[in-house]
Amino acid sequence: MNIIKTKTEIAKYVSEKKEQNSSVGFVPTMGALHQGHASLISFGLERHHYIVVSIFVNPTQFNNATDLEKYPRTLSQDVSFLSTYKNKVVIYAPTPQEVYGDQVVSKQYNFKGIETVMEGTHRPGHFDGVGTVLNHLFRQVTPDEAFFGEKDYQQLLIVKKLVEIEKLPLKITGCPIHRQENGLAMSSRNARLTTQQLEEATFIYKILRQVKKDFDTKSARALRAWVSRQFENNPHLRLEYFEISNSKNLRPLSRKRTHQKYRAFIAAFAGEIRLIDNMALN
Ligand code: AMP
Repeated sequence: MNIIKTKTEIAKYVSEKKEQNSSVGFVPTMGALHQGHASLISFGLERHHYIVVSIFVNPTQFNNATDLEKYPRTLSQDVSFLSTYKNKVVIYAPTPQEVYGDQVVSKQYNFKGIETVMEGTHRPGHFDGVGTVLNHLFRQVTPDEAFFGEKDYQQLLIVKKLVEIEKLPLKITGCPIHRQENGLAMSSRNARLTTQQLEEATFIYKILRQVKKDFDTKSARALRAWVSRQFENNPHLRLEYFEISNSKNLRPLSRKRTHQKYRAFIAAFAGEIRLIDNMALN
């Protein structure tokens, strides 16, 4: 398996492929790879000859030092996970210095309001960190297209905005949320849950499903109140936020409008592990 560690080598790899008229897709990750990541890679391989998968736990997007420290790092397992793709997939696993240079700091972005709700409110600085690292990675990797999961739907919108702001020549494509059979959205953080917590966390999916069912007949206000009550009565999960928002600009829904798309979003803690999920409602 080809593991590239420097920006010079990754730029050379991609430019050689492009010279051979091959196209190159990109799946940025923080490692601890699972089937959710694999679904992005498969999506990418349907459209491109080669896929670069970056594995980089980005320090600037963590607003909580313990979360950064405890984030699972499993490079050798990730390498064997990707070995099934043979030479169609190459790993870019740089150090923070390689990505950022000497100053591992975030640039400050104005994402036009998408960054001020939900994850933006609860994780200050998070999206500046995401924007900064992806701006560096996109410039280093120079892919034709990059793939992001709707699992992090707010992030997907941020990345589309980032590419506009930085005028980067690549396409950003969102891919559906990959779930376990019981509905739990796959996540690297799930590796930190106990077997019991893994079962209890399916509650998040069940709530989203019910909200989707009731969306046509109930107001956003009534649904918000219902979700709060469900979590208050659940001793295993602590709700951080529930929101129903416009899928394009993430403005919280007050009155439904025809021809607009809406999504429901949840962030909740199972013990100290923070989980997020979302679902299209119409
Ligand atoms: P992460 O390694 O968690 O930063 O995720 C890397 C990419 O994989 C992001 O674009 C995520 O949205 C995506 N991703 C993570 N989990 C899933 C999932 N269950 N389904 C689809 N995409 C996912």
